[in-house]
Amino acid sequence: MMNTKELDQNYVAHTYGRFPLTLVSGKGSHVFDDEGKEYVDLGTGIAVNTFGIADDEWIAAVTAQLGKIQHTSNLYYSEPCANLAQMLCERTGMKKVFFSNSGAEANECAIKAARKWGEKTKGAEYTTIITLKDSFHGRTLATLAATGQDVFHKDFLPMPEGFVYAEANNIDDVIRLVDANKCCAIMFESVQGEGGVLPLKKEFVKGLVKVAEEKNLLLIADEVQTGNGRTGQLYGYMNFDITPDLVSTAKGLGGGLPLGATMFGEKVQDVLGAGMHGSTFGGNPVACAGAVNVLSRIGEKLLFEVREKSAYIFTALEGAEGIKSVSGMGLMIGIETEKDASEVITACREKGVLVIKAKSKVRLLPALNIPMKDLEFAINVLKECCKI
Ligand SMILES: *Cc1c(COP(=O)(O)O)cnc(C)c1O
Repeated sequence: MMNTKELDQNYVAHTYGRFPLTLVSGKGSHVFDDEGKEYVDLGTGIAVNTFGIADDEWIAAVTAQLGKIQHTSNLYYSEPCANLAQMLCERTGMKKVFFSNSGAEANECAIKAARKWGEKTKGAEYTTIITLKDSFHGRTLATLAATGQDVFHKDFLPMPEGFVYAEANNIDDVIRLVDANKCCAIMFESVQGEGGVLPLKKEFVKGLVKVAEEKNLLLIADEVQTGNGRTGQLYGYMNFDITPDLVSTAKGLGGGLPLGATMFGEKVQDVLGAGMHGSTFGGNPVACAGAVNVLSRIGEKLLFEVREKSAYIFTALEGAEGIKSVSGMGLMIGIETEKDASEVITACREKGVLVIKAKSKVRLLPALNIPMKDLEFAINVLKECCKI
């Protein structure tokens, strides 16, 4: 009989470079592998398990819905979906929400809305969207094209057209591209996650707002990873006191179930009409019921704790032996190490701490409610593993 790793290698498509580990269960920030070894988890399934593993309140919300109706399709109204949309709008000031199942889909919807708005208000040729170099927006063809990293494009040419890439934190480069193309929108992550956990500079983000105003462009915030409390504000853009026209989110929103959301601001709230977009699974009642619970718990107190834990991590790691730099925001942190990041990740795993990678950095994405003693343990192990 084959074990899980062998089965996976035989039957699952080889698109992932997996860590040599099978995770089977856990509680909070503690997780167990199939040999019973325990780890403190600082990865949360890539910023998905917002309140850690098998969180009691979230389980209660999800299972209550599971016992009522598991799926309705969007041919009918559904309570959890409507309630979640109201919460999202009230917490952000956005006007409408479209639900899907992933970050890529949430971005696809934002791209479609921006193109439709461009056509309606500026003219059919205003289709280009400016994104940033080193961004990451997803794996579907359009969101790959939006992703400003050639390595993701090269095997799947031709890419869908209509995306041009500006240097992050270089407003002159953005203006150059706006002037050279017929644009409808600028799309950005407040902290570039997959690109190396790099926060945008405040002046740059304010510059984007000014350019968008002057040139009549939409601002699209990709909050797939930075959203839902991750950066110490409910959405990452809130750190910059700005109001985007479109906000996409996913990852942590569902707390562990697949759920994407695209939020529409005032200017674009009616751009997509009946029949113009859809999803069979989008807004699944079970996922939405979990998300209502997740969102209801991301209040000022929790966000304050996220910022405090973030400050603790920065203080503990900056200037420590073998650590070149620490970047990020809230509980989304990238660490540049003297040693190869993969070597540090392996050493941490052997000592019972799970961390992940972003480009050549070690990345931390702990649960927003990780207990201080678990965080301290994990950070001490990480510091040990970075030493040369
Ligand atoms: C993860 C991520 C995506 C893609 O989300 P999927 O759920 O994997 O489709 C898009 N944008 C950003 C910023 C992300 O971090």
